[in-house]
Amino acid sequence: MNEQQLTRCQKCGNRLETCGHLQICKVCGYWTQAGTARMDSIVVIC
Ligand SMILES: [Zn+2]
Repeated sequence: MNEQQLTRCQKCGNRLETCGHLQICKVCGYWTQAGTARMDSIVVIC
């Protein structure tokens, strides 16, 4: 039961798909680590 599974893409808002220990947005290519409490630490500013 991991609430982080419900994470949405911070760029386009699409639902992230879990792939192993990563969550990937197939719409824009954004990814983050699944289970990361705060995604702020991994956000990449383009
Ligand atoms: Zn996206």
